[in-house]
Amino acid sequence: MVKTIDHSEITVIGGGVIGCFIAYYLSKAGKDVVLVDKGDVGAGASGANDACIMAQSKKPGPKLSLAIHSSNTLWQNLAEELDHDIEYVRKGSMLVMESEEEVEFIRAFTQAQKDFGLPVEFLDQKETRRLQPAISPRILASTFCPIDGEVNPFFLLVALVNKIRCHGGRIYTHCAVEGFKTREGMMTHVATERGLIQTSVVVCAGGAYSSHVGRMAGVDIPIEPRRGQVLITEAIPPLIGPYIMSAKAIVAKHSAVASAHEKAGSPEYALGMIISQTVSGNMVLGVTYEFAGYDTRTTVQGITAVARYTSTILPALRNLRVIRTFSGLRPFTRDGLPIVGPSDRFPNFIIAAGHEGDGVAVSPATGMEVSQRLIEGAWSDRRESREVRKEQVSVGFPG
Ligand SMILES: Cc1cc2nc3c(=O)[nH]c(=O)nc-3n(C[C@H](O)[C@H](O)[C@H](O)COP(=O)(O)OP(=O)(O)OC[C@H]3O[C@@H](n4cnc5c(N)ncnc54)[C@H](O)[C@@H]3O)c2cc1C
Repeated sequence: MVKTIDHSEITVIGGGVIGCFIAYYLSKAGKDVVLVDKGDVGAGASGANDACIMAQSKKPGPKLSLAIHSSNTLWQNLAEELDHDIEYVRKGSMLVMESEEEVEFIRAFTQAQKDFGLPVEFLDQKETRRLQPAISPRILASTFCPIDGEVNPFFLLVALVNKIRCHGGRIYTHCAVEGFKTREGMMTHVATERGLIQTSVVVCAGGAYSSHVGRMAGVDIPIEPRRGQVLITEAIPPLIGPYIMSAKAIVAKHSAVASAHEKAGSPEYALGMIISQTVSGNMVLGVTYEFAGYDTRTTVQGITAVARYTSTILPALRNLRVIRTFSGLRPFTRDGLPIVGPSDRFPNFIIAAGHEGDGVAVSPATGMEVSQRLIEGAWSDRRESREVRKEQVSVGFPG
């Protein structure tokens, strides 16, 4: 007989930023929580990203709302609330444009964001150079969003884990979920490689692996992995102020999603550019957008392309040494929307995944919203569960 290793009110699968924030807010509210991960906390995309808390990369819609809410009300107080330095800095971000076509696209994109309530301003070439003196003179214009910031995702995850444990939550790492036990249409146990966890509610926050977790329960979770490759350089004195993203990255992220998706399964990549500098001075250079299955290796093609492109935007990068490269898998959905809410099949199997390249930025607001709904019992009624999920998903923006 398989042994039962724990009993909990709520079991969260996935120790990324989404799962950890959900577990944190639940445990803070006095809920009995268990969190399980097949690797370490941060083993997925949450430990392999650019760490930018960016609102201005998002289209008007639910993700932009979550990002604004997170930046205005949550991120600023988190270090104090978590009792831990998370290296959160709010230096703002810039989107830089290299062609007249991009200027035209971004003008319209920015206007729509302004109408939605995002503080963002358009800067001409001279104003761009004044704000970011190291930038290449070939940049035609930029936008500036003052509420954007950066965080150290490793410090953040450590801080969340500490608090979850302080609140009585249990965390099992290197403990893969392998299946579920159900009775009368409800989940009753999570089956892990170490034994069973008896539970009343299961939250799937498995990031790019959520479809695998869903399949164990016969639930379709349409999330695919979309790889991104990143380079880290040696630490240098401050080179940039606000972090920089190319308008191309926005195009790759939104307009090109559909066409890139046509190539699913091939290692071909779309290339964007994001450059930030950590509190310690290391330059973080990204990023590719690739459908390469679950392959988390970096490639010569990807790393070379990122290095070449970023140094055309910031020529001073050419003299720097790269000390580390890595890649991560974004949890990609076809319509660009995260999947948040109960599954159709089991009302007590809640999905919270699919935040693609925005998961860090929106993680506090997502964690707060999901935990509040669980605490209020908003998803406990079988008849309501489908409606809630539909309502959440239908307000979105197309990919
Ligand atoms: C290169 C790159 C750059 C990015 N840059 C940014 C950025 O600048 N700003 C931003 O906001 N976002 C960024 N993102 C996106 C962000 O990293 C993700 O959206 C976010 O980390 C997703 O978090 P998550 O908790 O949903 O998933 P993950 O962090 O992937 O966590 C899922 C966890 O589930 C666990 N798991 C899976 N299957 C099982 C199982 N069977 N049993 C137990 N555990 C399981 C995994 O081990 C993993 O730890 C970037 C992503 C990449 C790849």
